[in-house]
Amino acid sequence: AVKACGRGVWGRFEAAMAQNLRQHLLIEQRLRDALRLNALSLHYQPVIALEDGRIVGAEALLRWNDAELGEVPPDVFIPVAEDSSLIVTIGEWVLDTACAELAHWRAIDPGSELHMAVNVSVRQFAEPFFAMQVAAVLARHGLPAQALTLEITETLLLDGDARTLAAIEECAALGVRIAVDDFGTGYASLAYLKRIPVHALKIDRSFIADLPGDRGSAALVSAIVAMATALDLEVVAEGIESLAQADFAFARGAHAAQGYFYGRPASALSVRARLSAAS
Ligand code: C2E
Ligand code: MG
Ligand code: MG
Ligand code: MG
Repeated sequence: AVKACGRGVWGRFEAAMAQNLRQHLLIEQRLRDALRLNALSLHYQPVIALEDGRIVGAEALLRWNDAELGEVPPDVFIPVAEDSSLIVTIGEWVLDTACAELAHWRAIDPGSELHMAVNVSVRQFAEPFFAMQVAAVLARHGLPAQALTLEITETLLLDGDARTLAAIEECAALGVRIAVDDFGTGYASLAYLKRIPVHALKIDRSFIADLPGDRGSAALVSAIVAMATALDLEVVAEGIESLAQADFAFARGAHAAQGYFYGRPASALSVRARLSAAS
């Protein structure tokens, strides 16, 4: 301990960096085998139409249960996967698995027009033939393109190069819907909304958390919904945890909602049971 103190603040900082690097490498190493070991799975969180409270679809969310590390949260391992090319392989698996599950749901309730939202990293859009892969997955599972929404995080969208933007356009041209995830956290020019074919905005849950009491949050959510409506965009409120938050979002004109109030992300089996009961 005395020695550690002797190294001073800088030494401790370096030690922390080395520790982070080791953790990064460890996660990358184990993630490399995760698909093969069946350690990855998808959970699905219902998306609800605020108008009538019905389930209109779900968002697929990755889960990783590693034999040694335990449950590793996506906020920890997705950035590691994005730093390597792992996100591409994992992303292909996510897209295929989520679409297979959606086809299953649509078979449970044939009249339903349930949709699936899948998170996509910018790195994936930058891969050659990404849109063709998406088209192939949809065809393989007999799904119409409109049944799929690709979610792109706003901050990542802002880093996108010409290749990425072209791929987003190709996906939109297929009929796939594009949603901007974590909207409001990118603190940048909104000009991209004119350049990129966007169909939906998902208001980041940090704006929802203090509703309806906090005046600042209330004003921001109201302004986002008004802007989105003027641009003909669908608005999804993320992170709804209470009836009061849902009521507020609905009163301001948001179309859909997601959050613990309606359901936590859950296994495919439990979502199937919920859908069967509702249909
Ligand atoms: P996201 O796409 O914004 O997903 C919403 C996150 O909010 C999820 O966290 C969800 O569990 C959480 N959440 C939903 N409702 C509530 C609520 O009412 N209260 C609170 N406090 N949280 C709520 P999760 O599953 O930990 O995922 C974190 C992020 O990891 C996702 O944020 C997404 O950016 C990323 N991610 C997850 N799966 C994938 C994937 O397959 N591919 C990529 N590229 N990223 C993914
Ligand atoms: Mg998302
Ligand atoms: Mg989000
Ligand atoms: Mg997020």
